[in-house]
Amino acid sequence: MDIVLKNGIVVDPLSGIRKTADIAIENGTIQSIGNIKKSTQELDCKNNFLFPSLFDLHTHLREPGFESSETIETGLAAAAHGGYGSVCCMPNSLPVNDSAVITKYIRYRAEEIGGCNVYPIGAITKDLCGKSLSDMYSLKSAGVVAYSDDGFPVEDSSLLRKAMKIAKSINMPLFLHEEDKFLSQDGMIRDGEIAVRLGLNGIPPSSESSIIARDLEIVRETGARIHFCHISCIRSLQLIKEAKRDNLPVTCEVTPHHLCFTDLDVGQYNTNAKVNPPLASISDRDALIDGLVDGTIDAVATDHAPHSYDMKRKSIKDAAFGMSGIETALPLLYASLVKSGKIDFSKLLYKMIITPARIAGVKPNTIETGRLANITVFDPSETYNVTEKFFLSKGKNSLLLGKSLEGAVKATIFNGKFSYRMF
Ligand SMILES: [Zn+2]
Repeated sequence: MDIVLKNGIVVDPLSGIRKTADIAIENGTIQSIGNIKKSTQELDCKNNFLFPSLFDLHTHLREPGFESSETIETGLAAAAHGGYGSVCCMPNSLPVNDSAVITKYIRYRAEEIGGCNVYPIGAITKDLCGKSLSDMYSLKSAGVVAYSDDGFPVEDSSLLRKAMKIAKSINMPLFLHEEDKFLSQDGMIRDGEIAVRLGLNGIPPSSESSIIARDLEIVRETGARIHFCHISCIRSLQLIKEAKRDNLPVTCEVTPHHLCFTDLDVGQYNTNAKVNPPLASISDRDALIDGLVDGTIDAVATDHAPHSYDMKRKSIKDAAFGMSGIETALPLLYASLVKSGKIDFSKLLYKMIITPARIAGVKPNTIETGRLANITVFDPSETYNVTEKFFLSKGKNSLLLGKSLEGAVKATIFNGKFSYRMF
């Protein structure tokens, strides 16, 4: 055997298995699950969870173009550190991923680096400008799994309707960033009491929900498969719930930061709390947790948005939107939601492994004899302080900086080899 993970608690959300067992890995695949006697490389996984590596629907790898914030190499190292074995990367690089050549470049670099599957997402519109559609057909041939103008809504509803018709005809999903920029204006955080007190322009929740309402009407006509990115407020949830009741082909995701933080965390103008959509109110956050539990929300996606130091060391007005989140997603959610009993661990993992893969049209990862070994080892009791050194990402822009966190990824195995190991 190449590797034996000894005495771990195997949690496999697809089969529903949860048991203490050893996992033996040889030639990249899972050889056996059970009680394994002999091995050369044995890891003691007592009291650690072993589950299929995680799948992120929403990562910003920043390369090409913004290598001072992240490269494909540092992004994939960060993903492995976070327990992820697959990521979908958003097209807002420079140049934008609106052509087959950029898609192929990202896939080539990702394969060269290894350690994590990368599924590029192509732009809906050329250069994300919202004026004309990208060549959605050639992007599909080059290997994108979805289309998105993430960072921007497709303001022109007629253009979006055309994109939906094409996407439907080639059975591809659109990942929509829903925001009415006229309502957001130059808002920095969520509209409300905190924004007023800090003297900041606020972004109202209707900025998100009004565009979701518009786009659901277009989905009703076109039947296109739509995935709503990072939803953040109650009205969005209600609209999506209703659409699902009507059997519209829609799914949605929520980020760990919208599940665990609120606009109160902006504190004294902390630019690391400046994200888009903005951190919401306590009642929104609680509704998002309920939505995750009751199935309105299909997936947890990190919206990992690394930024260089300079992009965040500014006034809150000028700082960039986004949080570096792929390395803290699992421990943060485990500590905030699982330990407090708000969600069952296996259910949370289902939304971090199984549904994301399905939304991207990829076969979900599972722990099964004969399958490629893509496994995360997670120690729920390890406690540590989050410092800049913790991050393998170039983006240290996290609200968790300086805080203590409980629960650590001890190893991530990608196709039978360690992509990250602590022990
Ligand atoms: Zn977005």
